[in-house]
Amino acid sequence: MSTYDIILRNAYLMARDQVVDIAIDDGVIAEIDDAVERTADREIQVGGDLVGPGFVDSHMHIDKSFAACGRRHPKGNDSAFDFREIMPREEEYFAEMTVDEITENALKDIEMAVAAGTTYIRTHVAVNHETFGLQNVEAVTRARDVAANLVDIQIVPAARHIPSEESKQILHDAIELASGSESPEPALVGGSDPAGANKDIERTLKAWFDVATKQDVGLDVHIQDGGTLGGYTLDRLHEYTEANGYEDRVTASHCYCLSHLPNHHLDRLIDQFTESDMNIVTCYQSTRPTMPVRKLLESNVTLAHGTDNDRDFVFPHGNADSLEGALIESNKLHGDRTFVEDYRWFDSNEGLDQLWEMITEQGARALGIEDRYGVSEGNPADLVVFDEPSPQWAIIAQATRRFVLKNGAVVAEDGELLPEYSVSE
Ligand SMILES: [Zn+2]
Repeated sequence: MSTYDIILRNAYLMARDQVVDIAIDDGVIAEIDDAVERTADREIQVGGDLVGPGFVDSHMHIDKSFAACGRRHPKGNDSAFDFREIMPREEEYFAEMTVDEITENALKDIEMAVAAGTTYIRTHVAVNHETFGLQNVEAVTRARDVAANLVDIQIVPAARHIPSEESKQILHDAIELASGSESPEPALVGGSDPAGANKDIERTLKAWFDVATKQDVGLDVHIQDGGTLGGYTLDRLHEYTEANGYEDRVTASHCYCLSHLPNHHLDRLIDQFTESDMNIVTCYQSTRPTMPVRKLLESNVTLAHGTDNDRDFVFPHGNADSLEGALIESNKLHGDRTFVEDYRWFDSNEGLDQLWEMITEQGARALGIEDRYGVSEGNPADLVVFDEPSPQWAIIAQATRRFVLKNGAVVAEDGELLPEYSVSE
């Protein structure tokens, strides 16, 4: 009887609520059984602890990562956040950066994410026809290809100055560049705030869909305007989605307005999200404490999670760690005693379980990879071995990621990338 490449012995699988052996061969999960009979070149004793699928980080900005580093204190962090300062800071920063330098930071960010158990990333990337052009997309595309054996990356170019013709053109070029012949999947159209940033909801939405439909790619856009303005934008986004036959191809990121709207507007939006299969992504650094996370999940809206920025000019925080994100969300979403139903629900086992879903299965749905994701026979062996017995304890204790496997290869151990898999300098 031939041997497998790796067997994880006595691994707790949440989906089965059972301790099993997981056999891996040729990069794929070959067999899951109470006790796998065959042996393997390498056998890892899991001791009844949790084995989960690699995390899906549904929203990052790896082109900006580490922009705040390089001296004793985080750069550009001497006063509280002011959005008017961020855009000039971004332009100034990227004007000074080379493609090589951005690539190197992106690779460091990828390494940090993978060591923390992430095996799928969707990253937004800034493009700007007036200043730094396509350099960030060039850098992130290169980083994606260099790190292809560590993580799968979806690229979302986002153009400033939409809806001008020049910005539509550069967005089009960015998608072409990032969807090059080697790339496993096409890039998506990104962007930000039709109202707040672009001051023209209709022309912005039209520009996004023009570019997306012309290239037959999906969209993932930042909708950060609050209150009824954000709610109206989501209404229109839904209508554009339906009119273009784009069901299940659109993601709205952040959606802070959902935490501000009266129930009748929120309920209508939730109906629309399910009608057009629109995905929502929230990120721990900016999730509003009153974000209706539980209601969205209980209404079967795909609600995924991203870690967003890593130590850049937008947020000085960030460890590219989805498990850390889940813990912070659990604390943030405590709720208020006046909302009796949800008060401390995200501390409960069910609530923690939902947060776990957001960094795993819900993420896979948002990225459209659910057909090859999860701990099941035949799927790529993208797995994380923890030193805690359940998702709940993994979040609370911030479990050690004992082993991270990508396509059946152990690429990180005890929270460190193995030197032979290092991609940064
Ligand atoms: Zn973002």
